[in-house]
Amino acid sequence: MKVQSDAHPSHGPVAPHPPNSEAVRPATVVPVPFNRPFMVGTELGYIQQAHARLQLAGDGEFTERCSRWLEQRLGCRKALLTHSCTAALEMAAILADIQAGDEVVMPSFTFVSTANAFVLRGAVPVFVDIRPDTLNLDENLLEAAITERTRAIVVVHYAGVPCEMDTVMAIAERHGLLVIEDAAQALLSRYRGRPAGSIGHLAALSFHETKNVMSGEGGALLINDERMVRRAQHIREKGTNRTDFVAGRVDRYTWIDIGSSYLPGELIAAFLWGQLEAADSITERRMAIWQHYHLAFAELERESRVGRPVVPGDCLPNGHLYPLMLPANVDRGNWLEQLALRGVGAVSHYVPLHSSPAGRRLGRAAGAMHHTERLAERLVRLPLWLGIESELPRVVDAVRELLP
Ligand SMILES: *Cc1c(COP(=O)(O)O)cnc(C)c1O
Repeated sequence: MKVQSDAHPSHGPVAPHPPNSEAVRPATVVPVPFNRPFMVGTELGYIQQAHARLQLAGDGEFTERCSRWLEQRLGCRKALLTHSCTAALEMAAILADIQAGDEVVMPSFTFVSTANAFVLRGAVPVFVDIRPDTLNLDENLLEAAITERTRAIVVVHYAGVPCEMDTVMAIAERHGLLVIEDAAQALLSRYRGRPAGSIGHLAALSFHETKNVMSGEGGALLINDERMVRRAQHIREKGTNRTDFVAGRVDRYTWIDIGSSYLPGELIAAFLWGQLEAADSITERRMAIWQHYHLAFAELERESRVGRPVVPGDCLPNGHLYPLMLPANVDRGNWLEQLALRGVGAVSHYVPLHSSPAGRRLGRAAGAMHHTERLAERLVRLPLWLGIESELPRVVDAVRELLP
């Protein structure tokens, strides 16, 4: 992808201006959007191949290639492509055998699907506060949130920075709970050398357009517990044993379990294969952009004018997103508007689930949610996409000028 920075050579430093003034940037400056999907260039060729083979339904050759890639690169026992991360989380909730009234512990600072997948099975999401450094679920609050109704813990690797998984797994084992990783943002991230998604019993990936590697909509369920593999295949195939039939294990297939249609068509898998082949270089380039921001804001953080993301020493992130913490006295809505007037698209993230209309009705908070409430109000995500590189100084300057 090419950024047309040479098409508008006239923009120089933007002069400081009083808040609320209009016409703050030259009309020739092309805005930097918050997100722009990256095309590798091979996707259409692979779609054409699937088309030529007359393979359009799910589980064809490209689905097979993507699944093997995920299994080999992430070291999970089985990877099943789904039509979204939401679908993979719903499958995880069925596999976890969640029953009405069961409790599932999770952060409040996450996307709605983390909770919805379990609420659909009748579970009560029990929200715990996040750590102020990583914005991930605070593992030290887990045990206090566990009751005799708790069945599972869902961790979310926010911004592609893995949670403190050794502690989470030890607590889960002590209480006989399943651990499900919402690894939607964490493809190719590592925790103590281990890939995100390979540590819990189950994990869900997203290939939504906004993620590092994408197929428009898409996802995968990763299964690390051998005992759940067969059932996962049944659930994904409408509750039938069609996978066993295709593998020659049974001579006809029939309805044997609950389930739904969770698999993507082959055209999506063909597109995804083009992206997965480039996943390492995509991750590398995103990390370079992430590092650029991180260095550029180091001084501002020392001056306490902004907060940068924290990556624990034993975590290797994947450059999924760059969150900045605005100072407490800044009105974020106004700040984002001012940034947009300077041609830079940035956005907030997550209304905490415990305070959302559905979350208040369907879940409950375990303890105070101080960090979640305070940080969710101050967080902004800077634009981070392949091709933005030449525009980074402009983004950094705009942010710097707008910070008190
Ligand atoms: C993107 C995302 C999802 C949902 O992914 P879809 O593929 O759009 O269903 C779920 N959880 C988290 C943390 C996400 O970032």
